[in-house]
Amino acid sequence: MTNKETTITGIGVGRGLVVGDVRRMPDPLPEPAQAKSSKATGEELDRATRALGETALDLRARGLQAGGLAKEVLDALALMADDAVLLANVKDRIDQGSTAERAVFDSFAGFASILEAAGGYMAERAGDLSDVANRVIARIMGVSTPGVPQSTTPFILVARDLAPADTALLDFDIVRALVTTDGGPTSHTAILAREKGLPAIVGAALANVLVDGDIVIVDAGKGEIVLHPDAARIAAALVEAQSRQVARDGASGPGRMADGHEVQLLANVGSSKSATAAVESHAEGVGLFRTEFLFLDNDTAPTVEAQRAEYSAVFEKFPGQKVVVRVLDAGADKPLSFLTDEGEENPALGRRGIRALFAHEEILRGQLTAIAQATATTLADVWVMAPMISTVEETEAFVGICRELGIRKAGVMIEVPSSALLANHILEIADFVSIGTNDLTQYTFAADRLLGTVANLQDAWNPAVLRLIREVGLAGELTKKPVGICGEAAADPLLAVVLVGLGVTSLSMSPTALADVRAEISRFTLPEARELAERVLSTRSAADARIAASAVLTQ
Ligand code: PEP
Ligand code: MG
Repeated sequence: MTNKETTITGIGVGRGLVVGDVRRMPDPLPEPAQAKSSKATGEELDRATRALGETALDLRARGLQAGGLAKEVLDALALMADDAVLLANVKDRIDQGSTAERAVFDSFAGFASILEAAGGYMAERAGDLSDVANRVIARIMGVSTPGVPQSTTPFILVARDLAPADTALLDFDIVRALVTTDGGPTSHTAILAREKGLPAIVGAALANVLVDGDIVIVDAGKGEIVLHPDAARIAAALVEAQSRQVARDGASGPGRMADGHEVQLLANVGSSKSATAAVESHAEGVGLFRTEFLFLDNDTAPTVEAQRAEYSAVFEKFPGQKVVVRVLDAGADKPLSFLTDEGEENPALGRRGIRALFAHEEILRGQLTAIAQATATTLADVWVMAPMISTVEETEAFVGICRELGIRKAGVMIEVPSSALLANHILEIADFVSIGTNDLTQYTFAADRLLGTVANLQDAWNPAVLRLIREVGLAGELTKKPVGICGEAAADPLLAVVLVGLGVTSLSMSPTALADVRAEISRFTLPEARELAERVLSTRSAADARIAASAVLTQ
């Protein structure tokens, strides 16, 4: 008997289309029983100590093997396993009669709930703790560590969601696509897939029916997984995959629509290394230089001289091209100890972004001075913008200081609904605006962008967000000033077309997303994009908006 073809839907990341067989990531280990230990206390403590130590060693070894950013992630996880306070807590529990596995489970859970209560960036780390706990418990129990299956042949990885320790070591020659049942468009998995240019479908709840060996078609462009496709369907998918690849490879040069309308395609960078990736991906410049990434480990504000050198290292890669520098965006998910207030109950609603810089104006002035100095010795066209602007007064104050310190182009980010609604006034003062859709979505729905439990709300396809963007697009058309997008939404190829239809003039994204977006916008004329935008604006939900846009594609 042959199995019936079934289509499972989720949120697609990228435009990739892949045919392959499924390998499932084992589900997390069950919670260890609460029963009292029958072993001697010393023996239990020994089991726990050994497993914690071995886990730390294993994570460090994996880090060394992976190098780069993955090493930093894995080293941070190893530190959690090594933590002396945690070990003392485990020992206390064992002394009270716990088994080693239960003591580890409870201790990590206790630490995780402290982080969760702290919210924001800290809450995000709670997930990492439970990942480390699982690794330690698996060792104590002598079962295989939950994680990515090992294989020498390519497969499509299906999981509930992926933890940083899993993704850090993914072999992209073997893993052809990712499918998760949980998580949203800004989950760790989605961000990784976008960064690596790997097709992915996240939040596909019904993908839990997939089992090892199932043949599936994963179409990230349509957000569809086809289970048990017949031979004709597979053949058609392979032809389609090939033609998408050809369109992608053939799309180079500046962003241009089918009618010649130009849309600048820029890259988001956070260091001179990522600037190199941007150049290699044929970005037309930088639409968001996240300067705070350079100083996340600093205890004190960097000197003007140190900053000038960092900025120059990025600028020199873009002679004759635009580089939009964002002044330090501290707070919430990106705490900088020299700028961020400690102990705020809601850091995402607190003194973050430009608010923190106005509270430490000497740091803002120092940074603008460093940028102005680096600008004086570069051929790059340097623009500067402020994050988290929420009023016209803040715009006036920021642009005023920029002018005083010799910054030629001063703009602001639209990341808060209030500034989207006031965009016409803001653009009378600022030279340009750039919409940060990650935060704009977070604040539109009052849903923490780092919190998995509300990830379904973090969706820029929702017409509520798109209507706000429309306000900004109209203000840009009226004042004839540039309106950019620099949030994750710009990296979604079809959404990028919608955004252009809403009046956006440039799109900035992680470098790996550029080829797909370049290919997609070249398929539409500007009037078509406007029509698409109109259709999407009148929908009632993100899901309906996607359907309305995809319907145009299949016409
Ligand atoms: C955004 O909020 O969309 C944005 C681009 O800024 P960040 O993601 O760095 O907060
Ligand atoms: Mg932001």
